Amino acid sequence: MTRIGVLALQGDVREHLETLQAVGADAIPVRTKGELASVDGLVIPGGESTVISKLAKTFEIFDAVANRIAAGMPTFGTCAGLIMLAKDILDSASGQASFGGLDVSVRRNAFGHQVDSFETDLAFAGVDGLVHAAFIRAPIVERIGEGVEVLASLPNGRVVGVRQGNVVGISFHPEITGEKRIHEYFLGIVESSVG
Ligand code: GLN
Repeated sequence: MTRIGVLALQGDVREHLETLQAVGADAIPVRTKGELASVDGLVIPGGESTVISKLAKTFEIFDAVANRIAAGMPTFGTCAGLIMLAKDILDSASGQASFGGLDVSVRRNAFGHQVDSFETDLAFAGVDGLVHAAFIRAPIVERIGEGVEVLASLPNGRVVGVRQGNVVGISFHPEITGEKRIHEYFLGIVESSVG
């Protein structure tokens, strides 16, 4: 069974673990370097990127995660997780750092305040039919580097899903709406990376 970790410092960890289990992965929470070393892929959940960034340093796992991503570990970030994977963060908090992995610039809280959260259905490259997407104080991808593929956009053209190599980042939360097909898509990436 393919083992996928969920970075379990803050955010909607349980929802990701449940969705990964539902699509057939062996899903475990990751808080230590030892746990990180045992997984074939990693999910970085939604939550608050400033807190995830700080706690990753406090738990002394920040560099280990960044190094594994740089070495090609399949990684999937939702919302705050997308921010943690972006090379450049616009409107970042002071001292906020990202793991990298996606050569994109991401703007935090790009839709305004919590009340501006919304749900919609979107086309998603690699998934048949429309996916149900919940946006909660969501980031937007404002710059796309070379080698970055757009997986999903809003009707106004704003980019909300990207992939570069084995790294996938999306602005929304499939894990809280029962949408399982993007986790299935990510499991496919992890399975082909382990051969
Ligand atoms: N606004 C949050 C941040 O900057 C992300 C929100 C979310 O993950 N739902 O990290």
